Amino acid sequence: MNWNKSEELYKDAEEHIVGGVNSPSRAYKGVGGGTPIFMEKGEGAYFWDVDGNRYIDYLAAYGPIITGHAHPHIAEAIAKSAYNGVLYGTPTVLENRFAKMLKDAIPSMEKVRFVNSGTEAVMTTIRVARAYTNRTKVIKFAGCYHGHSDLVLVAAGSGPATLGTPDSAGIPTSMAKEVITVPFNEIESYKEALDKYGDDVAAVLVEPIVGNFGIVEPKPGFLQQVNDLAHDAGALVIYDEVITAFRFTYGSAQDLVGVEPDMTALGKIIGGGLPIGAYGGRVDIMEQVAPLGPAYQAGTMAGNPASISAGIACLEVLQQEGTYEKLDRLGEKLENGILNHAETYKLPVKVNRLKGALTVYFTEDEVENYDQADATDGEMFAKFFHLMLKEGINLAPSKFEAWFLTIAHTDEDIDETLRAVEKSFKPLANE
Ligand code: PMP
Repeated sequence: MNWNKSEELYKDAEEHIVGGVNSPSRAYKGVGGGTPIFMEKGEGAYFWDVDGNRYIDYLAAYGPIITGHAHPHIAEAIAKSAYNGVLYGTPTVLENRFAKMLKDAIPSMEKVRFVNSGTEAVMTTIRVARAYTNRTKVIKFAGCYHGHSDLVLVAAGSGPATLGTPDSAGIPTSMAKEVITVPFNEIESYKEALDKYGDDVAAVLVEPIVGNFGIVEPKPGFLQQVNDLAHDAGALVIYDEVITAFRFTYGSAQDLVGVEPDMTALGKIIGGGLPIGAYGGRVDIMEQVAPLGPAYQAGTMAGNPASISAGIACLEVLQQEGTYEKLDRLGEKLENGILNHAETYKLPVKVNRLKGALTVYFTEDEVENYDQADATDGEMFAKFFHLMLKEGINLAPSKFEAWFLTIAHTDEDIDETLRAVEKSFKPLANE
């Protein structure tokens, strides 16, 4: 496999685009460097790059592409909207239809508002929670990612239940002090945070099933306690379901865990691959939002017919019988195959999987929180990533990301992937 054209294009990109990429996760920084591959065409479970190499894709664009690339039903919906005009700046019937679809699937979203990205959706839920509670602080969980708005780009301080420090230059320390970060799956630190700051906490923000330090499920009862204790303290609970909604079931993670938040943020899958976000929640909370209430949020592109049409088409595909059973079955086959090969080659591998999403960690230990994910072997993952790429398997370039199956993947694709896994494990075992 040669990557001559990708290498040339990356050099060119570095001349014009900062870092050569339009999102930092696309650079191969998390896997020891290298040239990001320039893809040219996606169809079903496959990518073809500019050098003509074919890959089986498990990146799925970091989650949205659950139907596989260029799904005909979604492509037709997008084409139709292109000829009808992609942006109106007026209400459309499509928005009503899509809002109802989302509400039917996620009943806690009694009222919704469409925005353009997951970042915007989460950012706005926080503003609305602050408006509703007249409080300022937010509790979040270490390692959960909630987009790049100032408030949520904050890491933990030196210990549990400490005020945050900015995770990025350009974020005022004063703003980071409004965020308290505690470990996921650890109720004691969370309790401590609420004891200390409870009266000032507007909202507790959480990925109900984590996707951002790998796939990590909440321990039984954890999210119920998160809810109960937040409500006791007068704070709202916001679920960031940007990755999780429609990923594991037709609906949300809140459905799977059986706990309802006060507000929910969505993105990724609900746009069928086009830019979108949405947030929603209880009517009395959502009525804080302009034009009804004092919390302002607006958007030129919000609810645009192209994104909404793609979103409706995507959910229509997902409604087909057997969708999630297939994702689960293929996920299980992939997980078992990886674990078998790991055993053969005596490699320390743990797989965290929920249905059609899984993370392969190089470790002997369980991964239930960010620190444990961080402690897994990144160097071995980096080598594995590059070996798999040479075998034509496109993974996310980070040990913290998930492999996402799509309904376009077949048993043969999994077989081919497992042969690549075996080939890649072999040299790792010999080191
Ligand atoms: N929340 C979660 C859980 C995410 O995974 C992401 C993106 N990876 C975001 C929010 C931000 O979404 P976007 O990139 O669409 O702004």
